[in-house]
Amino acid sequence: ILISVEGIDGTGKTTQVRLLKEWLDKRGKDAVALKEPTQGRYGREIARLASSGGLKDPRKELELFMLDRMEDVKENILPALEAGKVVIMDRYYLSNIAYQGARGLDPMKIKEENEKFSPVPDLIIILDIDPRLSMARVNARKGVVGHFENEAYLRRVREIFLRIGESPNAVVIDASGPVEEVHRKIVEAIEKRLNI
Ligand code: C5P
Ligand code: MG
Repeated sequence: ILISVEGIDGTGKTTQVRLLKEWLDKRGKDAVALKEPTQGRYGREIARLASSGGLKDPRKELELFMLDRMEDVKENILPALEAGKVVIMDRYYLSNIAYQGARGLDPMKIKEENEKFSPVPDLIIILDIDPRLSMARVNARKGVVGHFENEAYLRRVREIFLRIGESPNAVVIDASGPVEEVHRKIVEAIEKRLNI
């Protein structure tokens, strides 16, 4: 079973992925949590570029994410799925649809290109908050002052995530409340939609 946790910056994806893995572990499920971009050579390159403002060309940016993902799919995701594990993704290609889509690339094309080599999630969990709260959380985390433009960008990213959230294999969860409450909503969605 493949679950992807998505959402704009500061929605609490990493925390929720950890809590979900602990919940699965307690129920005796063999779960593995993976994060994209990865710690591999392409993932590290993405992280380096991100800290210096990203790539000018969104197409090149997308290509780097896809190279990183090809390794992740081959080395981590497919082997775990084949071993019958529950795989929880902290970002996956849905993030490319939203972030690089919001930079002007065609969301449908990004989806198609990725689904040529990436297994489609059984459940996509979109954690949703207002971009203003997102900026506040990220600024508190990094201690930097955000720019208006970033918020405008995150608004476009969020719109695409909300559209993704309308697909039958997706659920949108309000992530503005306390960590435990968001976790309960995620567990509820999983129990309702997946046979775990
Ligand atoms: O929150 P996380 O560590 O997963 O995000 C890494 C950074 O990469 C974030 O600042 C996010 O905005 C950016 N990102 C991006 N395009 C993606 C995925 C993440 O610009 N497809
Ligand atoms: Mg995170």
